[in-house]
Amino acid sequence: MTTERILYPPSTLGVVGGGQLGRMFVQAAHRLGYTTVVLSPSRNDPAAAISEHVIEGAVDDLTALRELAKRADAVTVEFENVSAAGLRWLERSKPVRPGWRSIWVAQNRIREKSFLAANGFPLPAWASLRMASDLEGMSKFKGQSLILKTAASGYDGKGQVRVSGPEAIASAWDSLGRVPCVVEEVVNFAGEISCIVARGVNGQVEPFPVFWNQHRHHILDLTQAPAPIGPAATTEAQRVATAVASCLGTVGLLTVEMFLTRQGELLINELAPRPHNSGHLTIEATPTSQYEQQVRALCGLPLGSGQLRQPAAMANLLGDLWANGEPDWAGCLAGDSEVALHLYGKSNPKVGRKMGHLTVTESNPESARARVLAARQRLCREIPGD
Ligand code: AMP
Repeated sequence: MTTERILYPPSTLGVVGGGQLGRMFVQAAHRLGYTTVVLSPSRNDPAAAISEHVIEGAVDDLTALRELAKRADAVTVEFENVSAAGLRWLERSKPVRPGWRSIWVAQNRIREKSFLAANGFPLPAWASLRMASDLEGMSKFKGQSLILKTAASGYDGKGQVRVSGPEAIASAWDSLGRVPCVVEEVVNFAGEISCIVARGVNGQVEPFPVFWNQHRHHILDLTQAPAPIGPAATTEAQRVATAVASCLGTVGLLTVEMFLTRQGELLINELAPRPHNSGHLTIEATPTSQYEQQVRALCGLPLGSGQLRQPAAMANLLGDLWANGEPDWAGCLAGDSEVALHLYGKSNPKVGRKMGHLTVTESNPESARARVLAARQRLCREIPGD
C-alpha cells in the first residue's frame, strides 16, 4: 500500500545505494531539513559517509531492505541495478519512488526496448538475442554495423561489443558468455542528448533543459546546457521524455538518453529512473536541482522549476587525473574562482572511476564550455622531470 501522505522535514528518507548520485541526493535532502538513511555495502561509500544513518549491506539483501523499511519514511534509489522484487516488497509498507516497475523495466535492455517499442517510442533498429535460434533472425541487419549489449548490468559501455555485421554476431555473443543481449544498429548520430524529467505523485511533470553530452571511452566526459539542437528538437526531446515517464508511471526522476541522427530524428538509447550524470549541472544552473526534485517527488511536495537560469557546462573528473598524484587543486581553483568543484569523497582513484565534477555557468555557452575544460586541464599534473 502506498500512502499519498506528504512527508515534511525532518522525516527520514531512505536511499538504496551509496554512490555519488545518492550523495548529492543526501545533500539536497539535508538542505531541506530531512534526515537520511543509506543502504550501501560500506559506510565509507560517498552517500553513506555523509548520512546520519547507514545500513551496511548489499543493495539486494532482504534483511538489509527490511531494516531500511523499518527506519525510513519513504525510499528512493540512486541506481537501477537493485532488486526489483525487493522494492516491490518494500512498497507494501513504505512509499518507494520510483516504484519497482520503473526499475524493473529500466534494469534490463530487452524489457526496456520492448516496453518502448510497444508504446510507439522511437528506437534504433534492434533485436533480442536470448538463445541460439535468435541468431537466425539477425540477417535482417545485413550490411549494418552493430552493437551487442548485455541485457542486464551494463553501464558506461561495459558489456558491449561492436561488430561489423550480422555474420560476426555469434562470436561476439560467445565473448559475452552467451548471456541475454540486445543487438542494435550503430547509429551515425549528430549528437547525444539526455532529457531528465521529474514527475510528481499527482502526475505533474517538470522537464529539465535538454543536455548535450560528449563521451570518451563510453563514459560521459562533458555536458552542455542548453543542447545546441534548436527549438524543435528540444521541444520534441522534452515531449518524448515526458511521455515515457507518464507511460511508465514513474514518480521521481526519469532520464531519457537519446541520439539525434543526422536527419534530425530522435532515437531513444536508454532510460534511467534516477538522477543522471548529465544532470549534475542543475545544482548550479536551475532553481531546483535534479536532486531536490527527487526529494520533492519522494516526499509528495510540489515540484520546483527545472528552467535553466543560465547556460552551463559540466566536466567529469575521472580517476585518471590522479595518475601522477593528487590533482593540482590550487591551480584549478585559483585560476577561475567561479568554477564549482564537487568531489565525491572517494579514496581510491582508478582509471575511469568518477571521482568528481566541475561546473561553470555563464551567459555565453561556448565560454562556459571553454572555462570548464580549462579548469579541468589545470588539474593535470605533469610528471616531474618530464
Ligand atoms: P550505453 O551504455 O547504451 O549508454 O552506451 C554507451 C555509449 O556507447 C553511448 O553513450 C554511445 O556513445 C555509444 N553507443 C551506444 N549504443 C550506440 C548505438 N546504437 N550507436 C552508436 N553509438 C552507441
